[in-house]
Amino acid sequence: MSLFTIEQAPCPNCGTLAEMEVFSSVNGDRRIDLTEAILAGTIQSHTCQKCETAFRVEPSINYLSVGEGLWMMARPLSAMAHWKYEEDIANTAFDEAYGSGAPDAAKEIGALLTVRLSFGWPAFREKVLIAQHGLRDVSVEMTKLAILRSRPGNPLAPGVELRLLNVRGDQFEMGWIDAITNAPVELFTAQKSLYDQVDGSPEWSKLAADLSAGSFVDTQRLTIVPEPMESAS
Ligand SMILES: [Zn+2]
Repeated sequence: MSLFTIEQAPCPNCGTLAEMEVFSSVNGDRRIDLTEAILAGTIQSHTCQKCETAFRVEPSINYLSVGEGLWMMARPLSAMAHWKYEEDIANTAFDEAYGSGAPDAAKEIGALLTVRLSFGWPAFREKVLIAQHGLRDVSVEMTKLAILRSRPGNPLAPGVELRLLNVRGDQFEMGWIDAITNAPVELFTAQKSLYDQVDGSPEWSKLAADLSAGSFVDTQRLTIVPEPMESAS
């Protein structure tokens, strides 16, 4: 089931309130239009009628696509600071719906699902794209690390994330994205052969295990020390 509430979202520039559909869950099997809106970046986005500033309400969405084998908790970017706590919450929610605490029929569906946790829109969009292309997200993350090692002049900065944006034939369209504004900082193309080299490679198995030690499968898992909940805002 897809669920939303109508909320009054303030424009970050002028404060004018906009009436918006804010989703708590999206069923990707039944609502292909919503999955398309996630990929297009239009879901929970709005252009202020007064000052024409475009803005988005951060996701706090439980995404399910049995067809893509994906169950995901998509959380706001700000929650990444305490990602370990968020992993515990996501695991509990999955267990109740499709895991050990669920009825047998739900457990059968749950066995087909990969549990994931993402923060911010660029990561949410990327996970859906990866699932649609039948790729393994762990290997996409390792491809990024291979790019970081070999490609000169990467615009590393706080809040700027390297994301897979599209797959065309044997090419990966990649981008450095400002995760707060969702604006691209730099776009480039990588060969899918990079992915093929790391996917399932014994040399990369230790890194693959580290990246997929929980549901937050992202290179930032390796670099951000999670804050305890007490100090999180
Ligand atoms: Zn405005």
